[in-house]
Amino acid sequence: MTTHEKHQIVVLGAGYAGLAAAQRLARRLYQDEVAITLVAASPEFVERPRLHQAATGQSIRAMALADLVAGLALTLRIARVRSVDADAHRLVFDDGAVLPYDTLVLAAGSRIAADTVPGAAAHTVRLDDRGAAAGAARRLGELASSSGRVVVCGGGLTGLEIASEVADRWPALDVRMVSGSEPGGWLSAAARTHLVAALDALGVVRTVGRVAQVEPDALVLADGERVEFDLCFWAGGFAPSPLVAASGVAVDAAGRARVDTTMRSTSHPDVWVVGDAAAVAGPWGDSLAMGCRTGAFTAAPAAESVVAALTGGRPRSVRFRYWHECLSLGRRSGLVQLLRADGTPKEQILTGRTAIVYKNVVLDSARLLFRHPSPWVARRRHLRAPEAVASSAERIAS
Ligand SMILES: Cc1cc2nc3c(=O)[nH]c(=O)nc-3n(C[C@H](O)[C@H](O)[C@H](O)COP(=O)(O)OP(=O)(O)OC[C@H]3O[C@@H](n4cnc5c(N)ncnc54)[C@H](O)[C@@H]3O)c2cc1C
Repeated sequence: MTTHEKHQIVVLGAGYAGLAAAQRLARRLYQDEVAITLVAASPEFVERPRLHQAATGQSIRAMALADLVAGLALTLRIARVRSVDADAHRLVFDDGAVLPYDTLVLAAGSRIAADTVPGAAAHTVRLDDRGAAAGAARRLGELASSSGRVVVCGGGLTGLEIASEVADRWPALDVRMVSGSEPGGWLSAAARTHLVAALDALGVVRTVGRVAQVEPDALVLADGERVEFDLCFWAGGFAPSPLVAASGVAVDAAGRARVDTTMRSTSHPDVWVVGDAAAVAGPWGDSLAMGCRTGAFTAAPAAESVVAALTGGRPRSVRFRYWHECLSLGRRSGLVQLLRADGTPKEQILTGRTAIVYKNVVLDSARLLFRHPSPWVARRRHLRAPEAVASSAERIAS
């Protein structure tokens, strides 16, 4: 069989979800029948939950994607995708090159959303990649000698982690959080009490107010108050990659792909969507929150469902329950909020050193799994029935 006659599987995105899905597919299918291409914009696995550490100048061990897929029967293509056309079954890269597919696993993730407030995109730092983190680290180093003012917008998990990390690393800086409601307000009473004490100890000042506009050196709040800064981090929530909605697959109001419980697009049966790019309902109804703690769990069912579609087996549904929310509060302390299955907080928490060690173990376990992907799975032969999808060669011929 030539490369073009093989069934072409493209996995777009090599974050927590895409990398896990690609590794699994490569171990489940035979390379003489299926060609798998993993596409990513960066040659490194970007460990986004550690970008706030990189932004304070800590060195984070890089993981080259080439090493993580070494020995697996897949082609790694490092290039930025300009568009996905789910009707025409193809990706177009920034340089105009076209990559057709028979089956697509869309794992393009999310970015920090900065387009809801005027000026936010132009005048703030978003920790979306290593470049942004390295730039922030340089600027923070300069500001530290002059007791600069750092503002972090957003009182969610990401904002809390950034503000704590900066205050812990650079105590001379004036660090302020600005958020629409109390930072961490969704946590249990015990966790909130701990959080207030931890932020006070780090000297992180909090302002509650809605940001109406961002100017080059100040936030303007809805009540007219100005909060001046030398450096501003924006952490006002995540938005899915714009590639998802523009591809033509059915999306929800937030632009995440609508999928069934096997992560298959509800509009395009040859597209599976995983990670932050997909809106899959938990057993209690609501879509799972974006996060590596949720997204990584969508990869295996999606890969198994692709395998089932190609080999005639039964697709696998996502089974998910929340366990915990892990928050670093600088390098010496953290907070782990234990959760009920539906994500609501229990009163049990872990704090201090135990919590930061716990969070590091969680992140390091993911690194370990990526280095040693699912060795126990068995390969399956591609049957042309019952769900055989026409290969690109067959489709072009028809
Ligand atoms: C500072 C910070 C702290 C965080 N902390 C936590 C935490 O504690 N717990 C938690 O659960 N979550 C946390 N998150 C969120 C978590 O990192 C994301 O939810 C998770 O990375 C999503 O995984 P993903 O695989 O869906 O997408 P991503 O990790 O975003 O990966 C997307 C992939 O798609 C590729 N891609 C995107 N666009 C293109 C394109 N145009 N062309 C080619 N390739 C493209 C990228 O190169 C990448 O490989 C944090 C995020 C940040 C920024």
